[in-house]
Amino acid sequence: MGPPGSGKGTQAKIVVEQAGWIQLSTGDLFRLHARIGSELGRHAATFLDKGEYVPDDVTVQMVRERMREIPKPTRVLFDGFPRTVAQAEALDALLTESGRTVGAVVLLDVPRDELTRRLTERAKSESRSDDDPEVIATRYDVYLTQTAPLIEHYEKRKLLRRVDGRGSREKVGSRMKKALGGTA
Ligand code: ADP
Repeated sequence: MGPPGSGKGTQAKIVVEQAGWIQLSTGDLFRLHARIGSELGRHAATFLDKGEYVPDDVTVQMVRERMREIPKPTRVLFDGFPRTVAQAEALDALLTESGRTVGAVVLLDVPRDELTRRLTERAKSESRSDDDPEVIATRYDVYLTQTAPLIEHYEKRKLLRRVDGRGSREKVGSRMKKALGGTA
């Protein structure tokens, strides 16, 4: 987990490539659905474009379906999920159904001014409908109100590992590797 622009997707890709895990990015899945124009995609796009979260039930159902396709011994790195306490509870339930558990939760820490800078840069090279300045501000506020409470939730369960998300991709990547040590 981490605020928008903290590098979740970038780091998740580095980790899964090196460790042979599978990345499950809810943001990527929503964008994929939106591109192919599925009903789920059209519904999700109305939230994404405003910088709001897609409703929990829709998100959880999509994750549940994707998880069914992944063989049980394979490690899954969730990227951008869970994003609310309700999603975290639903995740526990769906993992239990298939005899799995959460091994660790990584929080990518990046200060707000750096996040805004990164997202503004990304807006120039990728055309994500949610990388517009106003939407960026909304996404950060939504993160603070809906996702930040998850930090305490996972801290209490002793699952949280904080990683400094500043610096180069490689530098952060090696911190990630260290933070995830022992879970492979
Ligand atoms: P970022 O973390 O940079 O905002 P993501 O690709 O993770 O980018 O997410 C993009 C958007 O997709 C979010 O702003 C939200 O609208 C939607 N989304 C992604 N994951 C979730 C989730 N777990 N629950 C609800 N909405 C989500």
